[in-house]
This record gives sequence, structure tokens and C-alpha cells, in this order.
Amino acid sequence: MPTAAILKINRRPYPAKRTGAKGAKSGAKAGTKVGIKWRAVPKVRERNCSVARTVAILSDAWSFLVIREAFFGARRFKSFRSALGLPRATLTERLKRLTRQGIFRQVRYSETSSRLEYRLTPAGLDLYPSFMALMQFGDRWLAGPKGPPLRLSHTTCGGDCRPLVACSACLEQVTARRVSYRNGPGAGYSATQPIRRARRSSDPSQFLRGRPSSVSLALQAIGDRWTFLIIREAFLGARRFDRLQTELKIASNILTDRLARLVGNEIFERRKYQDLPDRFEYRLTDKGMDLYGALIMMMAWGDRWLSRGSGPPIILTHRECGKDFTPQVICDQCRKPIEAHAMRYRMNYKPRDFGAPEVSDRAAVVRD
Ligand SMILES: [Zn+2]
Ligand SMILES: [Zn+2]
Repeated sequence: MPTAAILKINRRPYPAKRTGAKGAKSGAKAGTKVGIKWRAVPKVRERNCSVARTVAILSDAWSFLVIREAFFGARRFKSFRSALGLPRATLTERLKRLTRQGIFRQVRYSETSSRLEYRLTPAGLDLYPSFMALMQFGDRWLAGPKGPPLRLSHTTCGGDCRPLVACSACLEQVTARRVSYRNGPGAGYSATQPIRRARRSSDPSQFLRGRPSSVSLALQAIGDRWTFLIIREAFLGARRFDRLQTELKIASNILTDRLARLVGNEIFERRKYQDLPDRFEYRLTDKGMDLYGALIMMMAWGDRWLSRGSGPPIILTHRECGKDFTPQVICDQCRKPIEAHAMRYRMNYKPRDFGAPEVSDRAAVVRD
């Protein structure tokens, strides 16, 4: 499937829009003058991308797990701790970090208590549809013989519900093949710190702590930050090693490793495109293409909460209806947007077995 051709990407190889490029240039000049420190702390130029900004938060397995438990109703330190079994210091650090990132806010238990609990902010609650999109991917492709861990029902319509990623203009489901792109006001490249190398929590099996979860399974397969960026480039039409390396400024050993994992997880397939010498390219499989919904949901979240006033880097057009759109997660039965407080879960496991509280039949998300 010729992804690049289908997606019709409206972009030049290095568009270098004013904002990002300028900053990088003046930085480089200063660097030449000083002449010493640039090698010690190399900056890289990275595509402005709301997916990357969102993934920077969610690709930390422990942060992700803490947010997930909040969606299941956890507010207090000890609830997070018993559901996840994280060391005290790690949990404290993550709750602080997520509060700094605007995902949680701290609230006192009561007037008389000095203890704090952690509640999701509007930005935190707004991650819910992205979680739903990842969950659907996990349910479709990664559920074991027992089937998906959660069944969903939607209180708005009372029906069993399968969330869909849909176009905000026509409410039809969107797929990668039926969307085209153009640069938005926030497009361009910015100088940024390179991604930190090995972090302990980037071990993909960390995502599987606690209760069974299709979101965890999805993130175990793709939740490493480099992996996400490689998948993003694939949706933008990159197939070859060299092109990925140029776009991402990624070390070749890391790229080789991530591509092998993506092929192993059947997100990419490796195809020979040249003999003597043999050369291969990487294409999204049907499974890989199915990540699209989750990817654009995370992009939309980043656009809403992290674009720093510069506007979205990419604008999506739905080719079915011809309109620009924002992706939305809707109920397949009533076509209304999914919101956390209107969902009920039936668990295909015993939460007690995982140290998690029984919340099987009430709104799992805390409302203020
Ligand atoms: Zn549409
Ligand atoms: Zn519904």
C-alpha cells in the first residue's frame, strides 16, 4: 500500500517556517561565537509536533499508569500505591511531575486535614478519549484468549459501546487513508533537547504493572518515545532507513533496534525494494495503520493543551466530507462524544487480585 501517495502530504522536505528556524539559527550563530559548548550539549532540530509533546508525557510508563488509575477513580496516594505497587519515592515524584505538567491538581481531603489528594484537571480528563482510542487498538489486536479486559457501556444511550475515532464535521469514522494534511500555523522545526537515552521506566514491560489493560498492551508495543516518532514519520510517508534517520536525527543503532521491534510487533513489515545490494523498506501493516486513530487523538490533545499559543502544526482534512476536522472519540451506537463520566465498565477480571479497588459499576472517573 503506497502510504505516502495515499496520504498526499503537502509539505516540503524542510519547510523551515519562521518561528522555529529563526530560533535555531540565532542559536547556531551564538554557538559558533562561543565555539566550545555546542558539542557538549548538542541541540537537535525536531519537527513541531503535538503527538511528540503528548507522547513525552505518556511514554513514561509510570506517569501513564498513575493517570490510568485516576481514570479508575484513584485520588489518594495510598490508592495509587496499592493499585500499582510503585516505590513510594517514585510515586511521589510522578505525582509531582504530573501536577507540574498540568494533568493533576492537588486538593486537600477536607478543611481539617493537611493531607492532599490528586484530581485530574480538565487537561487530564481530556486524555480520556486518547486512552479509549488506544484501548480499542489493544482490544482489536492484542487481547489474549480471555478477550478484552473491559466491556464498556455508555450511560448517555444505555448501550454497549465501542468507541470510534471520528471526524468532528461529519461524525463518520476516520482512517489514515481518507485524511489529508497541510501545515498549520504551528508548523516548522524547533531546536530541542535530544531525547534522553536510557531511562529505567522506558522498559516496555513496565506498562503492564497492575490491572490487565489494553491501553497498557498498546503502549508496551509502541509507547517508547522513539517508536512513536518512527510511526508518526511512517504516517507522513517515510519508509526507508535513511529518510527516518534524516527526519528524526536518531542514532542508527537505536533506529535499527526500534525498527526490529516494530517488525516483531507486526506494526511494520520489511520489504525488499532493491537487489544487489539488498535494500529494505518499512511499511505500516494493517495493524500499524489501525494506530492512526489513537495517534491523531493524541495530536489533538497536544494541540489543545501544549501548543503554546502557536496553533496546530498540522491541519487534518477529512476527504469523505471535504472539511477540516478535529478527531473525536464517539460512541458507535449514539454517535455522541465519549466523556469519562458517562462510561461504565464491566471488568473481565477481579480488581482485588491486582490491589485495585472494586469500582465495577459506578462512574469510574471522579467528578468535581
Ligand atoms: Zn468528515
Ligand atoms: Zn452511546
